[in-house]
Amino acid sequence: MTLARGSMLLIASHNPGKVREIAELLAAHGIGVRGAAERGLVEPEETGATFAENAALKARAAAKASGLAALADDSGLSVAALGGAPGIYSARWAGPKKDFSVAMARVERELREKGAADRSAKFVCALALATPSGEVDIFEGEVHGQLVFPPRGGKGFGYDPIFVADGMTETFGEIEPVQKHAISHRARAFEKFARAVFAS
Ligand code: IMP
Repeated sequence: MTLARGSMLLIASHNPGKVREIAELLAAHGIGVRGAAERGLVEPEETGATFAENAALKARAAAKASGLAALADDSGLSVAALGGAPGIYSARWAGPKKDFSVAMARVERELREKGAADRSAKFVCALALATPSGEVDIFEGEVHGQLVFPPRGGKGFGYDPIFVADGMTETFGEIEPVQKHAISHRARAFEKFARAVFAS
């Protein structure tokens, strides 16, 4: 699927920060955006088994309801020694209060209970672009690294304070956002998306 300059894309997210970030990335390509919330769209339940499936079902529902091409993302932390957990449940591990100190403590506890020495983990981001007719393209980005405890740094969000990307010594919570954005799973997924849809 390609997007022409001047086209309008719906961002299938109710998170204003995410919509703004994506709008900035797309403005450079002459693409305007609409947020799902401003269109009064309801977010579907995330019933998929993978990041890609969840991104696809959000994008497909938004495209169908709005009649516009729609972009959705799904992301999270995948810990090797925990069989990929928390994975698609990354946000849910933080509980109803969205307290990520609880989620990070759970990761540490589960690793300890398993007696696992392997601290390798990755952040994954899946972007899905859907047309109103139901065609979907997926673009995935990953960043690999190691987990450290206790959490360090207050610059990021979510699981950033326990994640050190390969080749770095500081956590994603300690480095500057611009350093994170240069190598993050989200940036890598966006690079693939941009290469594919702005190809011609
Ligand atoms: P969602 O894609 O908005 O559902 O977010 C999934 C969850 O994954 C977030 O709430 C965070 O806990 C986690 N997550 C996704 N990306 C990052 C990141 O870049 N840093 C830290 N945590 C992340």
